[in-house]
Amino acid sequence: MAPRVSPEKPQNRAFDLLEFPEKQKLNFATTLVMVILHLGAIAALFMFSWTNLAVALFLLWFCTGLGISMGYHRLHTHRSYQVPLPLEYLFAVCGALTFEGGPIFWVATHRIHHQKSDMPGDPHSPRDGGWWAHVGWILVGEAKHNNTRLMAKYAPDLAKHRFYVWLNDWHWLPNVLLAGLLFAIGGLPLMLWGTCLRVVIGLHATWLVNSATHMWGSRRFPTRDDSRNSWWVALITFGEGWHNNHHAHPTSARHGLAWYELDLSWIQIKILRYFGIAKRVQVAKITTPLAERDAA
Ligand SMILES: [Zn+2]
Ligand SMILES: [Zn+2]
Repeated sequence: MAPRVSPEKPQNRAFDLLEFPEKQKLNFATTLVMVILHLGAIAALFMFSWTNLAVALFLLWFCTGLGISMGYHRLHTHRSYQVPLPLEYLFAVCGALTFEGGPIFWVATHRIHHQKSDMPGDPHSPRDGGWWAHVGWILVGEAKHNNTRLMAKYAPDLAKHRFYVWLNDWHWLPNVLLAGLLFAIGGLPLMLWGTCLRVVIGLHATWLVNSATHMWGSRRFPTRDDSRNSWWVALITFGEGWHNNHHAHPTSARHGLAWYELDLSWIQIKILRYFGIAKRVQVAKITTPLAERDAA
């Protein structure tokens, strides 16, 4: 597949949609935060302990697993199931703990991705280059993560909640508090493992869904985008790697549609449903036909 445009000049129109005025300019603050997180992650590797590893793995599950996969993505963006509001709020705080931005920003960006997948307007398509889809799109443009009013146009259901508006403005605060807590308990090594290394692994895992699963893997459904199913991305993202299934059936709470497609978030949603906590769970099957707008 030949790239539609050169990676240096992404035809990224989503930023126009979101009224980003200087879409090609490197965002210094965002880039600096990313560099610091990566340096901290490398430093953490020199301070190994089994406790640090266990805390980092638990937080990876708590923040990226519950916050991004079950929260921001399957619950807040696609409303593929319902839970009581306090749990929905908790998942959103978990999501903010990943440094992937506040809930209104994340949901707005992802809804545009589904509307425009791999077409002009997709915020992160590998057709604009693999690096662009992975992280480039985050590093350029104005920092509108906190421009809640602007983002709210794309997530009006979330913007109705004062809590989500507040969390979108202060999305970095939970992580700063967590880093302080980890430092108080276990000093610099625990803070670097529980924050920097854990956040960096969570970020790259999530970003691989935007880059790798729009480039490599198999396609079960002939969707109009380039989405693929990738077992190894699914393994490190709590089931998000079954991305062709997901683009074919975006509102399905289950992404791994075959019995052999491991989808940890789906197992967890089933557990919540068993206890009556998750309701109105929407589930697609392999045989479910594509909706017309999602077909190639
Ligand atoms: Zn996608
Ligand atoms: Zn989605």
